[in-house]
Amino acid sequence: MATKIPAAQNRLFKNVYVCKNCGQKMKTTSLKVIARTVKCRRCSKHNFRPIKSKKK
Ligand SMILES: [Zn+2]
Repeated sequence: MATKIPAAQNRLFKNVYVCKNCGQKMKTTSLKVIARTVKCRRCSKHNFRPIKSKKK
């Protein structure tokens, strides 16, 4: 069983978002995602989800 280290968790998952369209990972802030100022590098879409959340 892997130990969850908070510092590592933050580094890996904090402010990382995934494009809903193509799955490209982007490092950005939640504010930018909500304000839609961030654009996907690959497909230029504005739809992002937090990397931790599961697909539904
Ligand atoms: Zn994309």
